[in-house]
Amino acid sequence: MKYFLENRNRICVQNEENAKSEYIKWMRFILRRSKVIGKIEIPISAVIIDEKGRCIGRGSNKRNSNNDPLGHAEIIALKQASLLKNDWRFNECQIITNLEPCTMCTSVLIQARMGRVIYGAYDAKRGGLGGSIDLSKHKSSHHKMEVIGGVLEDECKENLQVWFKKLRSQ
Ligand SMILES: [Zn+2]
Repeated sequence: MKYFLENRNRICVQNEENAKSEYIKWMRFILRRSKVIGKIEIPISAVIIDEKGRCIGRGSNKRNSNNDPLGHAEIIALKQASLLKNDWRFNECQIITNLEPCTMCTSVLIQARMGRVIYGAYDAKRGGLGGSIDLSKHKSSHHKMEVIGGVLEDECKENLQVWFKKLRSQ
């Protein structure tokens, strides 16, 4: 029995390691794509991964190009994924994005019952998951999400800083 438990623990750790290398891989994918998006929009992207590790939704910030105040990467990715899934519930899914979701997107993620939220850079001004306020722990939150912030934080932060610097110099 003891052996069985030890073995199970080892498997658990290994799965966690695999999950980590998977979301880091997706974060790198997002950072690579941001070079294309970043010409007209703030380079923020999001992907939604299902329980089988498949990408079922992808979105990039489209606020300026669509004149849409709801055009945040997370919401665009969620809309795509809910169509594909034919469901509004995301308990078994994870969303990965390079910037901490804002308060609007965090509320939407709570409504969508997202299983896990993984983000890169913290947003001290608008962040809804700890940077400014943590809505996931607020009493209004009926759904508890697993939140992992600061994944490839330096690269994500630098990527956004370079973009803002370019914008100011134009
Ligand atoms: Zn947002």
